[in-house]
Amino acid sequence: MDIKNVTVIGAGTMGNGIAQVFAGQNYKVILCDVSESALGKAVQTIQINLERMVKKEIIAATDVQITMANITTSLHIENGVAEADLIVEAATENIDLKLNIFKKMDQFSPPHCILATNTSSISITKIASITTRPDKVIGMHFMNPVPVMKLVEVIRGYGTSDDVCSLIMALSKNLKKEPVEVNDYPGFVANRILMPMINEAIYTMYEGVAGVYEIDTVMKLGMAHPMGPLALADFIGLDVCMSILNIMHQGFGNPKYAPCPLLVNMVTAGKLGKKSGEGFYSYHAGTKEMVVSSKFM
Ligand code: NAD
Repeated sequence: MDIKNVTVIGAGTMGNGIAQVFAGQNYKVILCDVSESALGKAVQTIQINLERMVKKEIIAATDVQITMANITTSLHIENGVAEADLIVEAATENIDLKLNIFKKMDQFSPPHCILATNTSSISITKIASITTRPDKVIGMHFMNPVPVMKLVEVIRGYGTSDDVCSLIMALSKNLKKEPVEVNDYPGFVANRILMPMINEAIYTMYEGVAGVYEIDTVMKLGMAHPMGPLALADFIGLDVCMSILNIMHQGFGNPKYAPCPLLVNMVTAGKLGKKSGEGFYSYHAGTKEMVVSSKFM
C-alpha cells in the first residue's frame, strides 16, 4: 500500500514533532486537535524548529516553505481522517480518551487506513479491540524530541498483521528513523527499562542517600548518560512518568513498579517538571537554565 496522506491526532509536544517529521519527507499531513490554541502553537513550533534546522545547515531554506505547505490543521477528527492512509494518534495519555478517539478513527477513516498510536504505555491490543480492524492497529512510539531522536519503537498488538508491521517498519526508515519491533506488554521495552531507573533515582533521593545534583551527576559522569534521571523525569513530565509506572504496576501486578511516594506527592502538588515550571529543578520563563528546586536544596 502507498501511504501519502497522514493524519496526526493531538498537536502537543509529540504531535507537532511527528507532523514535522512526516511533512519533511513530503507526506501530506493533517494535524488534528480539539484545542485551537494547541494547533496554533504547534504550527508556530514547527516553523521555529525548521528555521533552527536551516541555521544549523541541516535543511535548506527552501525546505521550510515546502514542509509547512504539507501541513494543514483541523479541529474535527471526522473530517481530518476521511482521506487518511495512516493515522498516528498522539493525544493525551489517558485510556478512555484514546479508546474514544480510536472509535472515531475507525468509524470515519477509509477501510484501508492503518491506525497507529504513539502511546507510551497503554496496551495496543486493548486499543485495537474497540476497532473493527485490529490487524491494522499498531504502536508507533516516537521519542521526544521527535525531529531529533532516531528511535521508533514499533509495537505489535496481539492481532497486528505481518503486512502492517512490515509496512510501518519500512515507513519509519523512510522518515530517516531506526525502527525496532517489540511485542505488546506493559511499558513495551523503552519505558519498562527507563521508568524503573527513574523511579529508583527518586527513591534514592527520598531515602536521603543523595541529593538531585549528586544523583544526576553520578549517572551523567559515571554512566555516560547525556542527562541525569531526575532531569529526564522533569523533561518527560512527572505525571507521565507516574502514569506509566501505574500501568506497569497494574499490568504485571508486581510491586517493584509502584511509583515512589515522593513522585506521587509531587504530581499531586502540581509539580510536573519542565512543563509546569518546577519539578526536581526550577525552570525560569524564557530561559533554558535549570536550578535544583528550592524544595530540594
Ligand atoms: P501533550 O499533553 O503535550 O499533548 C496532547 C494533546 O492532545 C494536547 O494538545 C490536547 O489538546 C490533545 N487532545 C486531547 N484530547 C484530544 C482529542 N479528543 N482529540 C484530539 N486531540 C486531543 O502530550 P504529549 O506529551 O505530546 O503526549 C502525547 C502522547 O505521546 C501520549 O500518549 C504520550 O504518552 C506519548 N509520548 C509522550 C512522550 C513525551 O516525552 N512527552 C514521549 C513518547 C510518547
